[in-house]
Order: sequence, then C-alpha cells, then structure tokens
Amino acid sequence: MNDKPVALITGANQGIGLQVARELAAKGLTVLVGSRDLGRGEAAARTIDGDARALQLDVTDATSIAAAAARIRAELGRLDVLVQNAAIAHTSKQAGQTVEDHARTTRPSNVSLDEVRAIWETNVFGVLAVYQAMLPLLREAPAARIVNVSSGVGSLTRASDPTTPYRSIFGPGYAASKTALNALTVAMAIELESTGIKVNAVSPGFTRTNLNGYQGTETVEEGAREAVRVALLGPDGPNGTFTHATQGAIPW
Ligand code: NAP
Repeated sequence: MNDKPVALITGANQGIGLQVARELAAKGLTVLVGSRDLGRGEAAARTIDGDARALQLDVTDATSIAAAAARIRAELGRLDVLVQNAAIAHTSKQAGQTVEDHARTTRPSNVSLDEVRAIWETNVFGVLAVYQAMLPLLREAPAARIVNVSSGVGSLTRASDPTTPYRSIFGPGYAASKTALNALTVAMAIELESTGIKVNAVSPGFTRTNLNGYQGTETVEEGAREAVRVALLGPDGPNGTFTHATQGAIPW
C-alpha cells in the first residue's frame, strides 16, 4: 500500500483542476488525475512532476465512478483528499456568443430544461455520486478533506443584492447549480462534523480556462490557490465554509 497521502481531483486534465493536481503532487501527495477521457488524463499526468496517475472518471457515469473507487481501493487503500472540481458551464453556448447574450437565452422563462438537467447532472448530481462512492475510502484516511469547487456566482446573498455586478446572469443553469453545490457542501459538512473529515467549498475567481473561453482575468495558479489551501487544512481548520483566496468568506 501507498505510504503517501492520496488526492483525487475530478476534471483534472485541464484548467484549475490540473493546477490543483500539480500543486498537490509538488507537496508530496500521490495525485489521481481524474479525467473523463483517459488519454487526456494520461497526457496531463505526464506534465506533472511527482507521483501523478491518470484515473478515468466521468462524474455522470455510475459505472466509471464505481470502477474508479474500486481501483483506488485496490491500488492505494484510502483517499486523503477529494477535490470535486469537474463542471460544465453550458451545453448550448455558441462560439463567439458573449456571456450576456447567452444569459438572455438561458433565463428561467426560456432556458431549455435539457440544458439545465445536463449542467446539474455534472455539477450537482455528479458531485453527490462521487461523494457517495469515495466516502468509504475517505473514512480510511486519518484526516480526510473534501473540497467542492463552487463559484461566487452561486451566492444567493450576492445574487439578491441589486448592487452586485453581473447579477443578471444568475440563472437556473450554471449559477444555480453552484448554489445547489453549496447546499450539498453544508449537508456533507453536517453529516461528517463528528468524523474529523472536513468539507468546504471554494470560489476560484474569474480564471482563464476553457470554461469561459479563456476570458477570465486570473491565472490558473491564482484560481487553484484556495482549493489547494483548503485541501491541506490542519486539524484546527474549519468545516462547512465557502471561501476565496483573497476575498475570504463568501456569503452563501
Ligand atoms: P475547465 O478548464 O473547463 O475544466 C473543467 C474540467 O471538468 C475539465 O477537465 C472537464 O473535462 C471536466 N469535466 C466536465 N464534465 C465532466 C464529467 N462529466 N466528468 C468528469 N470531468 C468532467 O474549467 P475550470 O475553469 O478549470 O473549472 C474548474 C472548476 O472551477 C469548475 O468547478 C468551475 O465551475 C469552477 N470555477 C471556474 C471559474 C472560472 O472562472 N474558470 C470560476 C468559478 C468557478 P474535459 O476536458 O473532458 O471537458
């Protein structure tokens, strides 16, 4: 069995997830680079210094999730860190369409239910399914940590404040999926509060990745910072929080 702590990052073949994987490997963890496409996961793992291994994991596919959990149990025996990072922003945005134009076609009154279901399948139900499959492995670790990668756009408090910029893009798809993820985070934190396993949500900030057509203003290093910090919280660290690297606590 492995003597190093083990981290699984979902959706780690690119973007913020890959950067989190890179930094946790640099800190000496064995890193499982979750990727729905094994080839892309293997290519990403090869760019990481340290012990990084690709793991096929599609968070919307129960068979894939079960196989990933079985492989971790057989090869490593436990999971110390689970970073629930995989997400999609939309299924329908056209190339070149602005965020504002896309938001106009994805309001509560006109959004396609298929679009909402697809986003929630990955960003909400996928997270819950991976949590359920990985929890027995997390319980095998001495002090496991779960990081749910959320977004400030999921904050109901901010969306309800008329002075919040861009609140008009708050819709049933991506933004509300992150609100639901925040609710799951609180529920998981309550479930595990007596165990020593800590569950926290983080907001990376507006980061230059494929998710937003590389329009973000922050680097992946900046976007990954809070997830890495919370993944490595010590025994006195908090449980059930929602934070950003420089803004601190974000209102739910
Ligand atoms: P990204 O570069 O698009 O990465 C998203 C990752 O999720 C990709 O590896 C993608 O895989 C994976 N993924 C999507 N569906 C999946 C599925 N069904 N199963 C497994 N993996 C799946 O985006 P990112 O910006 O790094 O996003 C990482 C996290 O940060 C997300 O939770 C996102 O909501 C959050 N976030 C990002 C920003 C931002 O400004 N970028 C802001 C706030 C929050 P493929 O490569 O196969 O598509």
